[in-house]
Amino acid sequence: MVAGEAMSGWTRGAVAAALAVLAAVVVVAVVVRSVAPGPAAGVRVRARAVPAVSAPEPGVRPLRRVGRTDCRVARCVALTFDDGPSALTGAFLDELEAERATATFFLIGGHVAERPGVVRREFRHGFAIGDHTAHHPDLTRLPPARVRAEVALGARQIARVTGVRPRMLRPPFGRQDATVRAAARMPVIEYDVTSLDWRRHGAAAIERRVLARVRPGSIVLLHDRYRGTLIAVPRIVAALRARGYTLVTVPQLLATTGMRAGAVYFRGP
Ligand SMILES: [Zn+2]
Repeated sequence: MVAGEAMSGWTRGAVAAALAVLAAVVVVAVVVRSVAPGPAAGVRVRARAVPAVSAPEPGVRPLRRVGRTDCRVARCVALTFDDGPSALTGAFLDELEAERATATFFLIGGHVAERPGVVRREFRHGFAIGDHTAHHPDLTRLPPARVRAEVALGARQIARVTGVRPRMLRPPFGRQDATVRAAARMPVIEYDVTSLDWRRHGAAAIERRVLARVRPGSIVLLHDRYRGTLIAVPRIVAALRARGYTLVTVPQLLATTGMRAGAVYFRGP
């Protein structure tokens, strides 16, 4: 029967194909087993399985991965730290890394060369880094050419240490206007929650103020230079997580809205 012959031909083909697949699986399994126990010279085992978090370094624990978090859906919050690096920045990184929490640091360019090691650590450990100008002036009091120079010099001072030019600006004192935004040529990152940690250094007051004002999409202003802030940070992180928040960097927070040069952002979606 034609139909029967056609069927048996098809079956034979299917069996042959299945055997071929099985043989291929066995070969692959044998190859994987033979290279799996140790990285043989020149063989990159499971190269695709390595998470693209940051350069592997001895003793570095990867930060909690939040790259795929959609902040239009998740309750996101971005903690930001201004005016560093300071003598306390390393201790802030210790606290954040112990909590596997990420954050964004807006650096004063003039401070970067004094503490390049801690800046490299911020960069390598996956924290976001932004420009807080070279000398921390009130940019609204400067002519456009000097605004440009302050922002560009700050970016160069950071790039000299990290190898990467920052692509966002936190204007000193949060002060900016249309002239500053146009001259900056970067997205301008403001905040909707201030800890006022420069005015009142007590950890309890800092924690209370942040937790009372934070909401989904908030950008929180802190400073990695006060001991009270250092004490408050792990408490704030724990309280935010208890409320269901995911900690993200500013670029992660604004990933779905995009970040345009000359635009100003106070909070995320
Ligand atoms: Zn500042």
